[in-house]
Amino acid sequence: MSYTLEGATGTWEVVIGLEVHAQVTSNAKLFSGAATEFGAEPNSQVSFVDAGFPGMLPVINGECVAQAVRTGLGLNAQINLWSRFDRKNYFYADLPQGYQISQFEFPIIGTGEIEIQLADGSVKNIGITRLHLEQDAGKSLHDQHPTKSYIDLNRSGVALMEIVSEPDLRSPEEAGAYLTKLRQILRYLGTCDGNMEQGSLRADVNVSVRKAGEGFRTRCEVKNVNSIRFVMQAVEAEARRQIEVWEAGEEVVQETRLFDTSRGVTRSMRSKEDAHDYRYFPDPDLPPLVLDAAWVEQLKAGLPELPDARRARYVGDYGLTPYDAHVLTLEKETAAFYESVAEGRDPKMAANWLTGDFFAGLNRTGHSIGDSPVSAAHLGELLDLIKDNTLSGKLAKEVLEAMFETGKAPSVLVEERGLKQVTDTGAIEAIIDEVMAKNADKVAEYRSGKDKLFGFFVGQTMKAMQGKGNPTLVNDLLKQKLA
Ligand code: ADP
Ligand code: MG
Repeated sequence: MSYTLEGATGTWEVVIGLEVHAQVTSNAKLFSGAATEFGAEPNSQVSFVDAGFPGMLPVINGECVAQAVRTGLGLNAQINLWSRFDRKNYFYADLPQGYQISQFEFPIIGTGEIEIQLADGSVKNIGITRLHLEQDAGKSLHDQHPTKSYIDLNRSGVALMEIVSEPDLRSPEEAGAYLTKLRQILRYLGTCDGNMEQGSLRADVNVSVRKAGEGFRTRCEVKNVNSIRFVMQAVEAEARRQIEVWEAGEEVVQETRLFDTSRGVTRSMRSKEDAHDYRYFPDPDLPPLVLDAAWVEQLKAGLPELPDARRARYVGDYGLTPYDAHVLTLEKETAAFYESVAEGRDPKMAANWLTGDFFAGLNRTGHSIGDSPVSAAHLGELLDLIKDNTLSGKLAKEVLEAMFETGKAPSVLVEERGLKQVTDTGAIEAIIDEVMAKNADKVAEYRSGKDKLFGFFVGQTMKAMQGKGNPTLVNDLLKQKLA
């Protein structure tokens, strides 16, 4: 089922390609040793290189190169053993060098592919055109002083990967799924933290529209969209705008636009006519970047298991549904947590508890898996207490709630609160006898054929036992005694 939009002249398709800027996870910048920590005092992480002092020479940070190669490998992409840095020249107050060191003609990573998962269960492959390394610029602060703008150069020189997709995406959903999957892969690899609120990951969204069977029409680029939801909204808003332009008999002009998140519309930022001429040329301060094939192989051997492989393993080895496997592998912290709970236990039972009451508990208490008050070891212990009949499913839910509130081990809570399930048949029989004695009329009705009353007896017995009777035993013994 394909996504289309209806206009006055008929049905339109949408074509989307994303250019994603991902900040490389690294302690130091791309060409200097300055720190990259988020939220530091303005201008406290700036070397002479980052400040553009004359005569300073850039020196490539090997770890940033390794991160780009790992990312390329994770995107099933061509690793270019020979690549080159170019100067992209433009003037801006937060760019002290007067140029950005980037890669233009010869990027470090060539074509690759990402498989995206869609809500209807289908999958689609999206082509990656390239990935290149470049420096980030500084930041202008316009809201600190009534008449002055301040400049913070902490970000100046931080390593970015620009990851460009082919125009293979056809709907807001596909664009969202692509960005979600890309972020997931980057996080699994540990090459970018994917934090869109902090700007570690931002997307330029290229959109065009066309009638079925046509070639591509002119696109516009919506710059710097900083959440997956906004990317999806920007695609639709921009596509609708372009349809109106075409249908009014005008032409869409190629330009850069911004998405106004409060009004849900895009507006023009600059047109093709005032587009920069960047006068790219090879950076004379840097030799070409030449990689050793054996080093690339070594990085490949050191890659962690990626989401697709992990999901397949959960379905194949653990027997989980594709949906549960998908949910449990979305974040690698969740997957690691799950595996440690499932280790040596029933993997399906572990998956059910995790995706059910455990996730609900995290939500309720406002925690994420990283700072969960319930550890994997404690959740595993809880499952063991269910397995060995110490706790019924219902009591276990109560214990889990208490675990979220107190952070205590389930065995401790069972002890403290006297929640242990009663499996002593003698004790259960004694309660059943009491219940039957108190409700002699109902016993007679039951025996004369009113089967529905069985539930009443289960309820009364459980109530008398404060919910602690083993449900199977209570049922079996009641059946025997009422017969
Ligand atoms: P430029 O270098 O001018 O930015 P590119 O060819 O690199 O142009 O394309 C940039 C992005 O625009 C890519 O993600 C690409 O997939 C996307 N794109 C190209 N043509 C179209 C189109 N007609 N409609 C939508 N997206 C497009
Ligand atoms: Mg571009």
